[in-house]
Amino acid sequence: MIKLVVFDLDETLLNPVEMYKIYVALRTATIAARLGISLDKAREKVAGLKRELPIGTTEAVFDALGIGKEVWREKMLEVDPRKFVEPDPSVKGVLDSINVSKVLLTGLPVEQMLEELEAAGILDSFDLLVGWEKGGEPPKHSSKTWESIFARFGVRPQEVVAVGNEVSTDLPKELGVWTVLVGNDPFADADTIRKKVDIQIDSILKLPAVVEKIGQMQEQQHAESIEPSFGRAKGVQPNLLNLRRGNGTIPQPSKLKE
Ligand SMILES: [Mg+2]
Repeated sequence: MIKLVVFDLDETLLNPVEMYKIYVALRTATIAARLGISLDKAREKVAGLKRELPIGTTEAVFDALGIGKEVWREKMLEVDPRKFVEPDPSVKGVLDSINVSKVLLTGLPVEQMLEELEAAGILDSFDLLVGWEKGGEPPKHSSKTWESIFARFGVRPQEVVAVGNEVSTDLPKELGVWTVLVGNDPFADADTIRKKVDIQIDSILKLPAVVEKIGQMQEQQHAESIEPSFGRAKGVQPNLLNLRRGNGTIPQPSKLKE
């Protein structure tokens, strides 16, 4: 049974394109200024690192370039999400129709996460909100975040669906969760998508049906994993054989061949 869905926010649930353009421009300009390189070179560095790093968040890119992730956190605070995000009843409808626990996990500073969710009208749609605290580690960097989420909700990874638009930052298939990719991740090659994505959708509006389908797939897998061990379990097998043969005795292996 699926018990929990963990959502990325930006470009997964919400798509304020003009806001993203500003983030991208800020990122490029900051890296170019700090490293004394052209804007084009800065863009190249970001794209290269996003592909190469095991978890290709912008915070990780800033660390890898020696600028430091805190610089990026401060830069993000210059953007006011409330200017770009409007209430989105269709996304709220998607969240309302998924009747399991819901977690929002974003690399945004906590302040902006709250502003963006409120502006979109979905602040109350989650059981837990996880953003980047000032002075803390960005939550998407670490499997510790996921493990603490599993523990908090008392779920196993195979009971969890992760939903996001970037494979390396949002979809930790290696932890054993189910994964749904929204859109096309330009930083993931076809082989990575094949290995790490269970289902790919072009719109978040398709998610409720997909979560239901995953629930059915999970039950199917669960049944298949029980069947062989059922047959092998010594205490159970004789009874089954007795029932089948209807003679009340436990047949010896040699007699089974006759
Ligand atoms: Mg995203």
